Amino acid sequence: MTATYTDLGVRRVINANATLTALGGSLMPQPVLEAMRAASTSFVDMFELQRAVSARLAQLTRNEAALVTCGASAGLLVAALGAMTGRDHLLLGRLLEHGARALPRHRIVMHRAHRIPYDNVFTLAGMQIVEIGNAIQTHRWELEAALDDSIAAVVHVAGAHLANAALTLDEVVQVAHGRAVPVIVDAAAQLPPRENLWRFTEQGADLVVFSGGKELRGPQASGLVLGSQEAVSWCELHAAPHQRFGRPAKVGKEELMGLLAAVELWLEQDHEAVAARIEQTTMAWVKAFSELPGAVPTYEPCGEAGRPLPRMRLAWPAQLGFTSTQMIEALAADEPVVEVAAAGTHAIWISAELLTPEEEQIVAERVYAAYAALARRFGRNS
Ligand SMILES: *Cc1c(COP(=O)(O)O)cnc(C)c1O
Repeated sequence: MTATYTDLGVRRVINANATLTALGGSLMPQPVLEAMRAASTSFVDMFELQRAVSARLAQLTRNEAALVTCGASAGLLVAALGAMTGRDHLLLGRLLEHGARALPRHRIVMHRAHRIPYDNVFTLAGMQIVEIGNAIQTHRWELEAALDDSIAAVVHVAGAHLANAALTLDEVVQVAHGRAVPVIVDAAAQLPPRENLWRFTEQGADLVVFSGGKELRGPQASGLVLGSQEAVSWCELHAAPHQRFGRPAKVGKEELMGLLAAVELWLEQDHEAVAARIEQTTMAWVKAFSELPGAVPTYEPCGEAGRPLPRMRLAWPAQLGFTSTQMIEALAADEPVVEVAAAGTHAIWISAELLTPEEEQIVAERVYAAYAALARRFGRNS
């Protein structure tokens, strides 16, 4: 018998938070698992398989070309490496021998408002990040001024939650392409809507990166680089199975076939029905939680990472004496752990997106009970 989570003493989690890597990303549907199992039964030429899967993925996502990586982070890594070298084998050789700083273009432009924890892959690639704008706003001239001959690419992080302080993607593409600088879009968590799989490339982005282990429900260690034939061909030169800088981010035959199955399934999915279920559950929660003393549940149309999926914000008055951290700890005290997100000091986000109908019920009961217990405990102390 092989070990299970329980054998190892690792607790199961009900994920009312988001498709976070730290919680296991997402759950693969049966056909994805079957595609991975079937892939594991035979050796293949990995160059041939990567090319065939990529061609199919490009077609499905209405892009010229595609490349599968072991995550969106890995996708950003090979995109950045590709932007530095293009298909120039002299530059490629120089990079492998001496690192990015030996290349003429080894800097990458980002909006300050787009700085995210994932952007350290650019530093890993040996690049220097050049920031434009500030936390509040960015001017077009700041991008124009930044684009000197040392710039390999501009990175744009997609998402309604990051848009206000940054230039639009249209503006970025216009200015960057005016200087023949490619644009890389990090759209890792920007699904749904399904149009996003082709929208950013239609807007002129050269490379767009999605996570395979989030909304797409592919293998947790998979990611998708989409873009023009030209730009994707730069990335391929760096990625496994080549033994170059992208090699530590290799993807296996199982992930390749699993991600392809996941994208096929996801594109066929009834996205309106999925959204309707999430809306209904969220509305039912809001109604139920308004009966809790002091609780202020609200229906929020915008989900995690600025996506158009609703979730509930459950707030309570500070006078009740307990914080969101204590609430999260209380929900983690039992098995299965119920994971929610903090929404400030006295509120939490609860999302129905990743829950089964039974789990929706369990989450409601556990949050209800934790709230009531905390309110009683702190009520007695005050
Ligand atoms: C999740 C995420 C990533 C990393 O994606 P992985 O597939 O887990 O590597 C990168 N950028 C953003 C904005 C993300 O949300």
